[in-house]
Amino acid sequence: MRIGRAAGLTDTGRRRRQNEDAFVCDPPLFAIADGMGGAQAGELASRLAAAAIEEAASAVSDEEGVVGVVRAANALIFERSLHDPAVAGMGTTATVALVDERTELLTLAHVGDSRAYRYRAGELEQLTTDHSLVAELVRSGRLTEAEAAVHPHRSVITRALGTEAEVEVDTRTVEVASGDLVVLCSDGLSAMVRDDEIARLIGASDRDPHAAAEALVHAANEHGGDDNVTVVVFELIEGEPAERDRRAAEATDGHPDPADPDDVTRESVLDDVNRHGAGKGSRWPALLLVLALLAIAAFAVWWSLVR
Ligand code: CA
Repeated sequence: MRIGRAAGLTDTGRRRRQNEDAFVCDPPLFAIADGMGGAQAGELASRLAAAAIEEAASAVSDEEGVVGVVRAANALIFERSLHDPAVAGMGTTATVALVDERTELLTLAHVGDSRAYRYRAGELEQLTTDHSLVAELVRSGRLTEAEAAVHPHRSVITRALGTEAEVEVDTRTVEVASGDLVVLCSDGLSAMVRDDEIARLIGASDRDPHAAAEALVHAANEHGGDDNVTVVVFELIEGEPAERDRRAAEATDGHPDPADPDDVTRESVLDDVNRHGAGKGSRWPALLLVLALLAIAAFAVWWSLVR
C-alpha cells in the first residue's frame, strides 16, 4: 500500500474577512490548524503550527514523533504569545495524520475540534473526538447530536495549542488499506455539512481527492459558509511504499548542513512565518508602486513646466 493522490484546499468562507486556517499536505504527513484569538493572532497561531509541523515532516516516523511535533508547535506559539502583546492568548487546533505505508497504519494526534475521517466502501468514520464544549455535553448525555449541531456555542473548544505551556495531546493509530480515503477538516466543514453528505460528496467525486476537496469546500459555502473551511484529502492505493527523500531527517541531529538547501532550519521557517504570517510582507511592493507613481507624476509636472 502507498499514498496516492493528495489535495489540500482552504477557503475564507462567506462571512469571515480573514482565513485563520492553515494546512499541511506533505506526504506522508498531513495536518489542519484552525487558529483563534482574533484577526492576525489566529492566523499567526495556525501558521506557526503548520510551519512547525511541515518543518518536522521528514523527520517524523511514529506516534511519539507526531506527538513531539504537536508539543513543539504548542511551545512555539505559547512563547510567541508571551513576548508579543498583540497576539497574547492566541491559539489553534491541530490535527496531524501520519501514514506508515509499510505497516499500513495511520497515526493521528490532535488538539481541538479539527477532525479526521476515514472513508471506506462508501462509509465515513470519524476518527477523532472533538475537544469542544458541545461534544463534551453530548458525551455526558446533556445534549443530543441534533442540539449540538445548532448550539450557539458549538465553536467553543476546550483544548487548544498555544494557550498554555503544556498541552494534552490525544493520539490514535488505526489501520488503513488501499481503497481508503482520509479526510482532515476544520470545523468550517464539519459544522456546516453533515457526515452523511460528506460521504455522499466523496462518493460522487469518483474518489478523486482534489475533486472531493473542491466539492466539500463548495458544500460548506452553499450551506452558508459561516467559517473558514479547510480540507485535506488523500487516497491510499495498491503499490510499493514510496522512497521518500530523507535528507532533511538525517540532518536533524542538531548539526544542519549549510551546503544543503533542503536542510532548512527551524529558525529560517519561523523567520518566514514572521515575515509573512501577519501579511506584512506584502506591503513593500505596494509602497514601491506608490513611490514609482509619485516619481512619474513629478516628472510629468516638471516636463509640462519646462516645455
Ligand atoms: Ca473554525
